[in-house]
Amino acid sequence: MSIPFNKPYFCGKELEYIRQAHANWHLSGDGPFTRKCHGWLENHVGCPKALLTHSCTAALEMSALLLDLKPGDEVIMPSYTFVSTANAFVLRGAVPVFVDIRPDTLNLDETKVESAITSKTKAIAAVHYAGVGCEMDILLEIARRRHLWMVEDSAQGIGSRYKGSPLGSLGHLGALSFHETKNIISGEGGALLVNEEGFSEKAEIIREKGTNRIKFQKGKVDKYTWVDIGSSYLPSELVAAFLWAQFEGFDSIMKRRMDLWKAYHRAFADVEAKGLVRRPVIPEECQHNAHMYYLLLPKPEKRKSFLEGLNQSGINAVFHYVPLHSSPAGQKYGRVAGPLDVTVEMSARIVRLPLWIGMENEQEAVIDKVLAEIKKY
Ligand SMILES: *Cc1c(COP(=O)(O)O)cnc(C)c1O
Repeated sequence: MSIPFNKPYFCGKELEYIRQAHANWHLSGDGPFTRKCHGWLENHVGCPKALLTHSCTAALEMSALLLDLKPGDEVIMPSYTFVSTANAFVLRGAVPVFVDIRPDTLNLDETKVESAITSKTKAIAAVHYAGVGCEMDILLEIARRRHLWMVEDSAQGIGSRYKGSPLGSLGHLGALSFHETKNIISGEGGALLVNEEGFSEKAEIIREKGTNRIKFQKGKVDKYTWVDIGSSYLPSELVAAFLWAQFEGFDSIMKRRMDLWKAYHRAFADVEAKGLVRRPVIPEECQHNAHMYYLLLPKPEKRKSFLEGLNQSGINAVFHYVPLHSSPAGQKYGRVAGPLDVTVEMSARIVRLPLWIGMENEQEAVIDKVLAEIKKY
């Protein structure tokens, strides 16, 4: 048996659309497929403007540029997240301020955010871990009252909702990922969701190397020139063509992932009841997208042999993240606000199980092996 942790899923028309992009003689960015993808995102996420980027990392970097962060400005975020949440802001000289997470969803603990705010705080970066929404009503209320920007790192959150609203549509800016490990993929890829309309034009300029090329293409200015700082954040039409096939298959992808997620959840109900593992918690106000299935082992010491046992049977289960506050760059560029006990504990107890479309026939074997490993301790 050999079950990888992840395997990319193809809806079927990806190569056909890449062939069409080639036939259109438009391979650089912002052609017909990119425009279709923007429209799809604007409809499905309900944001006024969506812009494809070459990664979620790029969308987060664009956010830091849009917020005009200066050296020493602070951004509140969890330490339990992917590197890019912090790195994008550090590139502007800003300081990530790491706050603890909630034990149930592993999302930023909204009750600990207020005490981390200083006169230098400019933004909150809310990461929707495993596609389960943060407690956004409270976080947004804090952001409004304290005049802070809200950036949603919704890399894992496409298709998820909080109190009925799509993740990525709630903050001033949202960032999505289409990396091959996410639900909807284009190899590498992402999108910036611009909910604050005042940022729309500047976002287009930043994404096009600091030029007003988009305005020029729309015939709104008669020459195309350098107007602000920026970089090249737009993907090629070949990437957008691939992505369009995935958007067309969105409903079926979501359903198939949810079936796998629910099968895991059912299978581990008994061992959770016996106190042997903890399953993911989905708060009532959250509708998730089955991005990830994880278990929390009762003690960190159990993890090494647990994962070794699975890997020896050919099942590639993994863990993440090394909390950023404990990483070399996190220590150099960031600072901690308050104790991070939950972060440290949960990151040492988590194991992530394979979840990919196509593993339906093998899921039973994974479940059996996981249950066998749990019995051993
Ligand atoms: C995957 C991920 C990213 C980075 O996405 P890329 O598209 O690979 O840049 C950022 N934040 C979180 C929470 C992620 O899971």
